This record gives sequence, structure tokens and C-alpha cells, in this order.
Amino acid sequence: MLRVDIRDLNRGPVRTVTELSPEDPTFEGLGLRLVGPVTIQGQLQATGEGEYLWRGDLHAAVRGECRRCLIEVIDEVDVEVAAAVFSSNPDAADDPDFYPLAERAAAVDVGAVVREELALAAQAHLLLCRDDCAGLCPNCGADLNAGPCDCRPPAEPV
Ligand SMILES: [Zn+2]
Ligand SMILES: [Zn+2]
Repeated sequence: MLRVDIRDLNRGPVRTVTELSPEDPTFEGLGLRLVGPVTIQGQLQATGEGEYLWRGDLHAAVRGECRRCLIEVIDEVDVEVAAAVFSSNPDAADDPDFYPLAERAAAVDVGAVVREELALAAQAHLLLCRDDCAGLCPNCGADLNAGPCDCRPPAEPV
């Protein structure tokens, strides 16, 4: 469960352990090609008046293309979130360090953190099928991992 009732939080920390299917609305519009469920662990707790802290981690597998040779690869994305703070303080509303919370919110939804962190992590990854991928020839488009192509190498300055 990623949506935690405020009343539960006021009684003490609540564990957030769940698996979300790739079709979960949390990931809608991110344009990520998720492979299998996204697993989430962590704990949400009240840290002050109208303030809640979530710490946790998430794991996902995302389908993408190698940036050099364009073959399809599966990227394992692991994100550790040291501190995501939800706040209903109006001063925090415009602060990007906080996740805004309605003043009379009945629940805190960690899904917002999962969505943002996953999107950031997936974008930041430089996808490569392997570290030494040779890529495609810029001239003929041949996959240079399969060996040199027939293009002549650029003339070496003498
Ligand atoms: Zn590659
Ligand atoms: Zn070539």
C-alpha cells in the first residue's frame, strides 16, 4: 500500500511494501516500458505538524535501446530514497524539496515519490548493451559489434 491513512501515521511509522504492476496508474504518462512489477519498500512516518517523511527504495526493470547500437536492452533501475518529505505547510508548496500535501489530507500517497524517482532514474541512465559496445558505423549503419564494416577508415593525417 502506498496510500497511507494519516490516522495510522499519527499512531506511528507505517511500512510501505508493495508491488505495482506496469499498468498501474502511478506510471501513466511516463513513457517507460516497464518489464514486470515495480517493487517498493520503505517506511513512512510523521516528523512534525503536517509533515511526513518517507524513506525507501524501489526496483524496476525498464526496456530501452542501447544508445550506441540501438539493440533492445533491459535496464535494471534501483533507486534509494533517503528522504522524501510531504508537507501541508503552505510555505512548502512551491519548494521543490517537498511533496505538497493538502491541509486536510486524509492520506499520504507515496506513489508520487515512486513516480518521480523512477522517471528521473530511468532518464539519467546511459543505456548501453555493454560497456564497450562499438556502436553503429555512422556511415553505413552496420553494427560494429559484429566486426568492421566495409567503409574505409577516415584517412589518417600524415
Ligand atoms: Zn550496444
Ligand atoms: Zn560502415
